[in-house]
Amino acid sequence: MGAFAWVTLATNDSYSLGALVLAHSLKQAGTTHQLAVLVTPGVTAAMREKLSSVFNTVQEVNILDSRDEANLRLLKRPELGITFTKLHCWKLTQYEKCVFLDADTLVLKNSDELFEREELSAAPDVGWPDCFNSGVFVYRPSLDTYEKLIQFAIERGSFDGGDQGLLNLYFSDWAHKDISRHLPFIYNLCSTACYSYLPAFKQFGANAKIIHFIGAQKPWLQYFNTETKKVQPSGDSSHLQEVLQHWWDIFCSLIHPLLS
Ligand code: UDP
Ligand code: MN
Repeated sequence: MGAFAWVTLATNDSYSLGALVLAHSLKQAGTTHQLAVLVTPGVTAAMREKLSSVFNTVQEVNILDSRDEANLRLLKRPELGITFTKLHCWKLTQYEKCVFLDADTLVLKNSDELFEREELSAAPDVGWPDCFNSGVFVYRPSLDTYEKLIQFAIERGSFDGGDQGLLNLYFSDWAHKDISRHLPFIYNLCSTACYSYLPAFKQFGANAKIIHFIGAQKPWLQYFNTETKKVQPSGDSSHLQEVLQHWWDIFCSLIHPLLS
């Protein structure tokens, strides 16, 4: 039986910081599975070295390859670039099953039970709950699925210009076919839910296993006071103080020393 892996993606050094914190959060939660990161040429050599100190696999992939007919056709829609990049995760066939995690997620509690789920398992999106959020999903690496996804991207595209719109069209029976493919929201607690349904967040937020900092307010872009070592979340992010501080505590203790 092949190994299981947590997989993420970084196309530049900023998202790589997210990937590093994520990897350490997985280790702190005591995962027994492997860690893999897909990187594009935009990630510096120095950063790849840091990534390889915590990830078992650092796999270089291209965003768009102009020699590839499929990608040339995709080039007409530059917003699909990142979609294509995430699809590379299906090529990690050295692993039997994987959980993809966006680099802006943070694991708060051991979630290894996710590997008991089947492709494609994901949690509902907060904006349209009949769509899944593609920041956390269980899948099976397969070159066949990869080719089909690329073909699908060329023929049908993505309704939102991102990977989520493409994957929801491809795995279109997710909403109604099999409830076991619906991950509980606590595996992809979208940061915006904290203020859009605050009573629910107060009631259930403590059960969260994986938090997802969706939108522009990424943890690494928050104001951080280097003297007090406290993060000072801007505006709407104040409910996230605790988890943002957790992100920054990992960053300060385990990652910052490597960077300086
Ligand atoms: N990503 C990346 N570089 C980018 C944008 C996105 O590496 O410039 C990767 C990263 O893993 C990120 C994921 O693609 O977490 C999805 O993008 P993002 O999390 O920003 O989208 P959101 O969750 O806010 O919709
Ligand atoms: Mn994300």
